[in-house]
Amino acid sequence: MTEQAKRKLIIAIDGPAGAGKSTIASRLARKLGYVNLESGAMYRALALKAIEWDASFDDEAALLKMAQGSTIILERSIGGNRVLLNGKDISARIRDRDVTEGASRVSVHPKVREWMVERQREMGVGGGVVMEGRDIGTKVFPDADLKIFLDADPVIREQRRLDQQKVKGVSAEAMSAELRDRDHRDRTRAASPLAAAQDAVVLDSTKLSEDEVLGRIEKLVEDKVKL
Ligand code: C5P
Repeated sequence: MTEQAKRKLIIAIDGPAGAGKSTIASRLARKLGYVNLESGAMYRALALKAIEWDASFDDEAALLKMAQGSTIILERSIGGNRVLLNGKDISARIRDRDVTEGASRVSVHPKVREWMVERQREMGVGGGVVMEGRDIGTKVFPDADLKIFLDADPVIREQRRLDQQKVKGVSAEAMSAELRDRDHRDRTRAASPLAAAQDAVVLDSTKLSEDEVLGRIEKLVEDKVKL
């Protein structure tokens, strides 16, 4: 895989929650010596700021102003991105349930998305990135070298999420309902809804191991590099 270093690709990985994007993107980036950028962490950072400032997730103008006044940095580190909001490490806090729900609510606003997309494009300039999210192949990098849409059966995705995130005092049913709500919002919003780009390779990971998914993507990367 060292050959990949010669041509710095932009690799987009989109898909719903629990499909395995983060793990695959992080492992792929490590193998290729690329930067792994989790675009969802940026929406999470803004949601956290809204919570801290007591702003409504529905107030697009206030959210945009907050975004414009923020520095959100996705820092590469072993074991995933470290996320800094105005210099403060918020990597752990943004995984909490209130922020997760908030991220999916702040992300419906077109002006917030425009701001995020611009920052994400800046981060990807020059290639050598694996960026994961919901609209990377459709909106952020429509000309990405390789687009993967990673999907899985909803029941499996819910189970994976439960295995990853056991939250004390929260039932499996409540966690599953939250994931379904978030999915529904992501797929049905007017601005850049979650969808596979026309030229994306759709990979269903329901019956595949993590290694198998990674192997298939690596093969696609190799084919691209040969072109
Ligand atoms: O990927 P992650 O689960 O961290 O994303 C959190 C939320 O941010 C998603 O549910 C989605 O609403 C939003 N998001 C988005 N576009 C992206 C990445 C995330 O709308 N590119």
